[in-house]
Amino acid sequence: MEIKKSEFTISAPRVSMCPKDNKAEYAFIGRSNVGKSSLINMLCNHKGLAKTSATPGKTLLINHFIINNEWYLVDLPGYGFAKRSKTVQKQLEQMISSYILQRPQLANVFVLIDVRHEQQKIDREFVDWLGESNVPFCIVFTKADKLGPVKARMNAEKWMHALEDRWEALPPYFITSSEKKTGRDEVLDYIDEINKS
Ligand code: GDP
Repeated sequence: MEIKKSEFTISAPRVSMCPKDNKAEYAFIGRSNVGKSSLINMLCNHKGLAKTSATPGKTLLINHFIINNEWYLVDLPGYGFAKRSKTVQKQLEQMISSYILQRPQLANVFVLIDVRHEQQKIDREFVDWLGESNVPFCIVFTKADKLGPVKARMNAEKWMHALEDRWEALPPYFITSSEKKTGRDEVLDYIDEINKS
């Protein structure tokens, strides 16, 4: 799929304020600093579309971007940011879970994982929760250039393999680097496939 046009639409503090036009939505989420803004900008080929943050974990809003006037790319707030207060953390979890569970136009969740890291409890719990909730999702490994292609693939496979103790069918996964623009076509083709189905 070619992205001809990408524009910021709205930052919503809650689900009820999200766009009402029923276009398919593809949401991106991950721990703060995982490289989510960089990935969104890379996918859309649009520098500065999503703000790459100097202060990780600052955005507490559901950000919608309209792509090719056809579908929404949704930038969800980063989870697992240690410096947030418990109250803010709770509000955030509430907002993320109500968006994910109450948004019929949500077509897929892309869960971002830094390919350098071992499986973290917070990511594992989030992925298990998506699976239990029957939410369609896949994994996007980020920052592959920091390891090189061979080690990145090894780490990604190990991460996916660790899901097998609970899940028989594993979700699709992609290995990306925003720095080197790798994995872009694969992620966009996947969205295209779902859009056409
Ligand atoms: P966010 O907080 O998840 O939105 O993460 P950002 O996109 O702001 O990225 C966090 C940091 O990781 C920044 O310093 C980025 O430059 C860096 N980063 C993000 N993606 C990549 C990548 O693919 N390769 C490398 N080497 N660095 C990256």
